[in-house]
Amino acid sequence: MPMEVVRGRSWGRPELAPGPLDHAFFEAAARGELWYQRCPACGHAQFYPRALCTACGGNPVWATASGRGVVHSFTIVRQNGQPPFKDELPYAVAMIELEEGVRMMGNVTDCPVESVRIGMSVEAYAVECGDGLAVPFWRPAASP
Ligand SMILES: [Zn+2]
Repeated sequence: MPMEVVRGRSWGRPELAPGPLDHAFFEAAARGELWYQRCPACGHAQFYPRALCTACGGNPVWATASGRGVVHSFTIVRQNGQPPFKDELPYAVAMIELEEGVRMMGNVTDCPVESVRIGMSVEAYAVECGDGLAVPFWRPAASP
C-alpha cells in the first residue's frame, strides 16, 4: 500500500538539495513510495543510498519498502530556536528500523512525544516539499 502524501502544506523548512544518488528517493516519496536499495547480486539491503553495495561491491537497485517499521532509537528535541522547528517543540526524532531491515531517520508525529517508545510500530507518510519531491515522516501504525 502506498504511503499517504500530504500535499499543499507549507514546507517552511530548509529546502532539499538532493544529489544524484538520492534525488530519486525524494521523487518516489512524492509518489507515495518509500524506497531503499537492494543488491541484485547478493540480496543485501541498504540505506542511505550509495553507488555500490556495501556487502559485495555490486550495483544496488531501488526497491519499494512496505512503509512499516519500529522505532529503533529516538530522542526528544526540546530546544531549537530556528523556525519552523521552534513552533513544533517538543518533537521526536527517531531511527526507524524498516521491515526490510534498513534504518531511516525521521520525525515521529501524530502522537504525544511522551508516548514514543523503542519498539513502537510506526508507518511512513510523506510531506510534499516542492519541485516534485517529498520527505518521509513517521506516525504510530494504524494496526500495530
Ligand atoms: Zn551485494
